[in-house]
Amino acid sequence: MSLSDRIIKLSDSKTLLMANKARDLKAKGIKVYDFTIGEPDFNTPDNIKSFAKKSIDNNNTKYTSNEGTKRLREAITIFLKKEFDIDYDISEVIVSTGAKQSIFNAIFSIINPGDEVIIPAPFYVSYPEIISLAGGKSVFIRTNQNDGFKITPEKLEQAITPRTKLFILNNPCNPTGTAYNESELKELVEVLKSKNCYILSDEIYHKLVYDNIRFVSFAYLAKEIKERVIVINGVSKTYAMTGWRIGFAAAVKEIIQAMNKIQSHSTNCASSISQEAAYEAFSGSQESVKLMINEFNKRRRYFYENLSKIEGISCFKSNGAFYLFPDVSSFFGCRYKDKIIKDSDDFAEFLLEFSNVAVVPGGASGEPKCVRISYATSFENIVNGVEKIKEAINYLVETNNISINKN
Ligand code: PMP
Repeated sequence: MSLSDRIIKLSDSKTLLMANKARDLKAKGIKVYDFTIGEPDFNTPDNIKSFAKKSIDNNNTKYTSNEGTKRLREAITIFLKKEFDIDYDISEVIVSTGAKQSIFNAIFSIINPGDEVIIPAPFYVSYPEIISLAGGKSVFIRTNQNDGFKITPEKLEQAITPRTKLFILNNPCNPTGTAYNESELKELVEVLKSKNCYILSDEIYHKLVYDNIRFVSFAYLAKEIKERVIVINGVSKTYAMTGWRIGFAAAVKEIIQAMNKIQSHSTNCASSISQEAAYEAFSGSQESVKLMINEFNKRRRYFYENLSKIEGISCFKSNGAFYLFPDVSSFFGCRYKDKIIKDSDDFAEFLLEFSNVAVVPGGASGEPKCVRISYATSFENIVNGVEKIKEAINYLVETNNISINKN
C-alpha cells in the first residue's frame, strides 16, 4: 500500500518548518525572536468579536448556503465598490474557508492537466503546489531586488505561450513585500488584453501598503476583460482574523458557479459564525485597521533601516504586506561549526541556532538567496532581534575572515 502519487509530489511547507522549530524552542522556555509569522500579531477588533458572540446567541450556527450568506456577499460587493470601484453582483462572489480555499477552487476550476500557469517569482509557496495538484505546470518569471521584485510587461509577454491558461499576480506580494503602482499594473493589463488567459489577482494584503502607494485592484484596471479576472481577498490580514478562516473570490458567474461546485463537494459553506464576523469586518468601523497599518509602517521603517546597516545584508525597501526579503547570499560559503552555509535554508538554520532568530528561507518561494522576515511582531522584538542578527553576522564575518561585497 502506498499514498497517492499526487501527495508524494507535494512539498512540505518550509514556512511551517521554521515556524515549528521556533515553536519547539519557545516550548523549552527559550526566548526566540520569531520573524516567521505570516499573520498580524494584533487581536481581532472588539466590534467584530462582539458581533460574532451575539451571532452565536442568535443561533446562527447552522449550515449557510454553500457560497456564503446573502448578507455577507452583499457586504462584500459594497466593500469591492467602495474600496476599489469595481462592480460585482452577489452572484459573482463566493465566500470560502480562507482566501487559500478560494485560490484552490479557482485553480481547480480552470486548470487542465498540462496547462501552463505563469507566476512571478518569488511567489507565495502554495501557488505551485496547488497548480501541481491540479496537474498544471508552473512557469516562473524571475524578479530580483534590482527590479524591485516586479515583473515587466516585456517579461510577461515573453512568458505567455498558447498553453498559458492562467496568470497569477500577488499584489502586495508574500514574500517580497513588493506593491505595484497603478501605472505598472496598467502596463501588465495592456499585455493581457490581447492574450487569452485567465488572471487571478491575489489581493489579500491590499490594505497593507506604505510609502504613498495607492492600492489599485487589478480588476479595476482590467474592466474590459472582466470575464477572465478572478479577484481574491479576505479578512485574514486586514482585520487580524486569520483563525476565523474567511476569504472570498469575485469573478463572473461561470467561474463562481464552477468554484461553488468544488466547494460543495469538498467543504460546503464556511463557518456560519465567522461569516457573521466577516460581515461586521467589512461593514463596521474601520478604525482599528488604520491603527494597525500605522504600527506596521513604523516597524517596517525601523527594521529596514537597521537591517540595511548590517554589513553584507542587502535589503530591498519593500512597500507592502508585512515582510522584508533581504539577500543574504554574501554569507554563502561561510563555515559555522562543521557546516558550510550554502543557501538560505542553511543561513536560516544558522541564525536560529546561533542567536534564536527565526526567519523563513526563500528557497521554497523560488529565491534561495533571500530570507523572509516578518515584522508582524512587537517593536521590542524587532529592536532586540536586529541586535541578535548583527551579533550573528559579526561572528560569521570574524570567524570566516571574509570581506563583504555589498550586493
Ligand atoms: N495569499 C497570500 C499571498 C497569503 O500570504 C495568504 C496567507 N498567508 C493567503 C493567500 C491565504 O489567506 P487565508 O488565511 O485567508 O487563507
